Amino acid sequence: MSSSPDVPWIPLTGAGLDRAAHRRCDAAWIAAARASERARILVLRGGALFVDALEATPPPSRIGADVAPGHPLRWLTGAVALDDVESLFLGEDESGAPVFAVEVAGAPGIADAPLRGLGVFEDFRVAAMGLGPFDGGAAATARAMFEWHRHHRFCSRCGAPSRAVDAGWKRSCDACRAEHFPRTDPVVIMLAVRGGRCLLGRQRAWAPGLWSCLAGFVEPGETLEQAAAREVLEETGIRCGRAEYLFGQPWPFPSSLMLGLLLEALDDTITLDDELEDARWFTRDEAMALLQRTHPTAFAPPRFAIAHHVLRAWLERSG
Ligand SMILES: [Zn+2]
Repeated sequence: MSSSPDVPWIPLTGAGLDRAAHRRCDAAWIAAARASERARILVLRGGALFVDALEATPPPSRIGADVAPGHPLRWLTGAVALDDVESLFLGEDESGAPVFAVEVAGAPGIADAPLRGLGVFEDFRVAAMGLGPFDGGAAATARAMFEWHRHHRFCSRCGAPSRAVDAGWKRSCDACRAEHFPRTDPVVIMLAVRGGRCLLGRQRAWAPGLWSCLAGFVEPGETLEQAAAREVLEETGIRCGRAEYLFGQPWPFPSSLMLGLLLEALDDTITLDDELEDARWFTRDEAMALLQRTHPTAFAPPRFAIAHHVLRAWLERSG
């Protein structure tokens, strides 16, 4: 499985962060780094990001609805006192500064020190839409990790409470000694193509006019290629042959890894199941109009979503 040399930069795909995993078990080093004046600290609350703004941009009303761009992250720097919350060591930036994320619960609020006057919490998707590689990758990692901690307070083997160890990268059960590691759930998102046309679908919950690639979770015992072909067959009745992996995107809602593929469709007749509201074939010209938002009735996801880049990758190679 290989990706093409001209892989586009996809939002939430991090760069410039050295995860420095060898530091995670060194509690003394982590404590010193966290107390250092060079420390950079990303703050989240309930999955929302602390951003440099007086007022947060509200989230869109429906998936695919237009939304105003969000705000840049407001990193805290130095040895700020947030001692009562769990912190996660994200790694080191390119200057070697230690990078942490903390998730605050009720307090401190934005009216309390050390957050007072610095910013507000903004919906993750809204804020993340405008983030560059470093900030987007750090934010995606932090959100996925805190979601995992929030939903894994108890040992899945014996039911006793577990606790975070290794700078937030593991949970440990003192009762049965089990160790628990964060999960990433693979999701295939694929474009089936045939004879210069591509297959897109839409769900009932989406904003009117939004069409996108089909997608679904990989099941245990499946390869990516098998999962992609199964999902297309289940949702549209279209059989697929050859598959090609393109690129991926971390998608921390709560813990997915989106994996983009192109699939060769073997027939044309669509038979819808209940999961989709509709599915249809689009020509290359139509697909380009969806991306450019010049189609009279339909549009494709924005560049924040990997589906946008999968569609674009097909158009660029078949043109
Ligand atoms: Zn246990």
